[in-house]
Amino acid sequence: MYRIRFHGRGGQGIVTASRVLGTAFFMQRYEVQDAPRYGAERRGAPIFAYVRADHMPIAERGPIHAPDLVVVADDTLVGVPAAGVLQGLGPDTVILIDTTETAEVWRDRLNIESQIVVLPKPTGADAYEPHFFGTACTGAVIRLIDAIGLETLDRAIESEFDLKGPSIVARNKEIARAAYDAMAGTEIRITEPTARDELSNAPGWIDVPREGADISAPTIHAGLTSVEVRTGLWRTIRPIIDYDICRHCWWVCSTFCPDDAISVSDEGEPVIDYDHCKGCMICVAQCPPHAIVTIPEVEAAATDTSHSTVTASTLRGVR
Ligand code: SF4
Ligand code: SF4
Repeated sequence: MYRIRFHGRGGQGIVTASRVLGTAFFMQRYEVQDAPRYGAERRGAPIFAYVRADHMPIAERGPIHAPDLVVVADDTLVGVPAAGVLQGLGPDTVILIDTTETAEVWRDRLNIESQIVVLPKPTGADAYEPHFFGTACTGAVIRLIDAIGLETLDRAIESEFDLKGPSIVARNKEIARAAYDAMAGTEIRITEPTARDELSNAPGWIDVPREGADISAPTIHAGLTSVEVRTGLWRTIRPIIDYDICRHCWWVCSTFCPDDAISVSDEGEPVIDYDHCKGCMICVAQCPPHAIVTIPEVEAAATDTSHSTVTASTLRGVR
């Protein structure tokens, strides 16, 4: 049975990737399970999805704890313990990381027994939007497992994206094939692992001790630790306040921001903390005079918008 786990962030197509891979396996006459596991359900939050595929009925249930292949669509998650990327990795596990860094860098950094391969993330003009990361990973996985033909992958993509129109289908096929080609030099191949007795046998009864209710309480060792989590790192679009239009009503945007990322200066001006603004655009929707505009993060990164005193008018001038 193949046991494959995908890790990424909400909005990167991870659930779709596992569904496309599951459909492709199914088209190759495998028995299949594919399912996502969400944490905080919002864009940018760590999520994982998993696929089991076998020629026999699958008795295992629940998340995969001992994967054959771990696919990481967002390399910033590797060092986030809560994301669980390294959970259950053994010497036979292959970990595929979609990254701009080399496999050697990751081997030095992680120092684990598992085999590490990288899917080179395209940059510059070849870069694609984050919501295609999952599709790219699926193309790379097809190359590594050697169990599914490219034509089958195309049919699985058509089945998944058909309702979104031919251009979306074509773009996903193009990205999946490019990732497949990018893995051509990788010698690692994952052949269908043989059954593991300890996982295939029915479990016996065990006595579960009765615990006090406090065992389920979270362990928090210090206050204000969430400040260290820079949720702004995974934003794909950015709100910009146009101070020429802002009426300094002082409370609407700062009150509605769910991450408390807008403060009000002593002069009564709203200021966005881009380290913690996650790009949900609730402030854009709520501002009465429409003083907050949205720009793509890639565009903002190319411009000096590191603090919110850059106005939308200024930005429009730059653009
Ligand atoms: S809600 Fe709009 S008008 Fe009010 S302070 Fe925020 S940006 Fe300015
Ligand atoms: S987009 Fe606006 S509302 Fe959303 S987190 Fe950023 S500042 Fe807050």
